[in-house]
Amino acid sequence: MDIAIIGGGAAAVGLLDALARAGTSGPVTVFEPSPHLWRGRPYGPDLDSVLVNVPPAIMSIRHGDRDHYAAWLGARATEHMDERLGHPIVPRPLYGRYLEDTAEKAAAELGVRVVESAVVAVTRAGGRLALRTSDGSVHLADQVALCVGGGRPRDHYGLEGTPGYIGDPYPLARTLENVAPDREVMVIGSGLTAIDVVVSLAARGHTGPISLVSRTGMLPYVWQRPGPYRPRHVTVERVQALGEVTLDGLEGLLRAEMAEAGEDLGALVEDLRGAWTEDPVARLRRQLADIDGPEIGRRVVQETAHTVGPHAWRLLGEADRERLRAWSRVATGVASPMVPVNAARLLELFDSGQLSVVRGAAGIGPNAADVVVNAVNPPPHSIPGGAAELAASLVDERLAAPYPSGGLVPADPRVHIVGDLAGDGPFITSGIPGVAAQGAAAARAIGAALT
Ligand SMILES: Cc1cc2nc3c(=O)[nH]c(=O)nc-3n(C[C@H](O)[C@H](O)[C@H](O)COP(=O)(O)OP(=O)(O)OC[C@H]3O[C@@H](n4cnc5c(N)ncnc54)[C@H](O)[C@@H]3O)c2cc1C
Repeated sequence: MDIAIIGGGAAAVGLLDALARAGTSGPVTVFEPSPHLWRGRPYGPDLDSVLVNVPPAIMSIRHGDRDHYAAWLGARATEHMDERLGHPIVPRPLYGRYLEDTAEKAAAELGVRVVESAVVAVTRAGGRLALRTSDGSVHLADQVALCVGGGRPRDHYGLEGTPGYIGDPYPLARTLENVAPDREVMVIGSGLTAIDVVVSLAARGHTGPISLVSRTGMLPYVWQRPGPYRPRHVTVERVQALGEVTLDGLEGLLRAEMAEAGEDLGALVEDLRGAWTEDPVARLRRQLADIDGPEIGRRVVQETAHTVGPHAWRLLGEADRERLRAWSRVATGVASPMVPVNAARLLELFDSGQLSVVRGAAGIGPNAADVVVNAVNPPPHSIPGGAAELAASLVDERLAAPYPSGGLVPADPRVHIVGDLAGDGPFITSGIPGVAAQGAAAARAIGAALT
């Protein structure tokens, strides 16, 4: 039985690791056209200022083993401590090496073959599936996992081809290379990618003005120092025990968690609402001062959004999902906060007057600044450009179906989707725990089909 994995980023690594641990027998073929096998879009070679956004306990690509990444990091952790966070935050290329090492171990056990081409179509071929690659070759498989990621930023403002426009900021080592230090830079977006751009400009000694321009003008929250507290109510088990899962039920779990610690959910919700109206720099300053605050509420949300959240999301009714989608910008900001070392750098730049944040997109256009950097990633469930033809073929062959709110869902038991292409997946971009959990679930389904 041949297993084909389309895409060789973090999702594929989580899947391969789970297949190897389950003792699944291959052969396995991975299709990946980029030169940075196992690293995907975020973790390829880049500047040292491009950091992971999450502490080690929630960066393990091995589902169910929170310590796997920290153990790999070992003594290297001391060189990369974010002192305010109390945990190492490494350059993303170093995390890419962890993914490479994990994948290579699993690949050796499974006997993986890598094909350095994109898959452009999957069709039915007798009782099997035929994968056609961009060079016209055809490969037969019995199980197919799609791990194609979310793709690159879209050109919402029609700026492609205008002088000074950078349509995709990564790798920043290349895109910022020719940005002279005194140039005026406008960054479209104010999320984590925009922050990567700003701290990388600063690390290169940029002296010109930088503005972050976005529809909401919201900055992500700042991580609080993780503590020993482990959630007792907001857990997968307690979500399952709810029976019918509703937003009110989930809110009840968080309320109970916080009440036990003497905290009020209402105060946290008020703080979240403030993101729409409060001055983003004032919020940043307050959150930076609150990294060591003793409250557990936001810490529980930050962690469980990526661990319990994806599980709960799949059990929620459509009306509750719609309520949550209306909050997606705030939810993304609290679930995927910035690391303190970046927050401190940002605040220095705001305080010096070099950096500003602009709410509203009216000023975005050609020649809005010397350099305009697009830092708005596609939302979850987007179909990456490099997988558009592939997705169309899967739908044509009734192997997958478009999901009403975007993305695809499998329509054949031999097809599996790991990562943000999964239409029934969460409304916020998956972190590593989310793709690792999906990889483990796909490995179980593939294992069951092969026995
Ligand atoms: C800039 C950035 C930073 C991030 N930082 C963090 C972080 O610090 N912590 C965290 O938890 N999460 C982070 N994330 C979230 C991120 O989504 C996950 O960490 C993870 O990288 C997703 O992996 P993936 O394999 O699904 O997608 P990707 O990493 O995008 O990999 C998909 C791969 O599929 C390949 N592919 C696409 N189409 C085809 C095709 N037709 N045929 C063959 N191959 C194809 C692509 O070349 C690519 O290599 C970050 C995301 C981004 C965009």
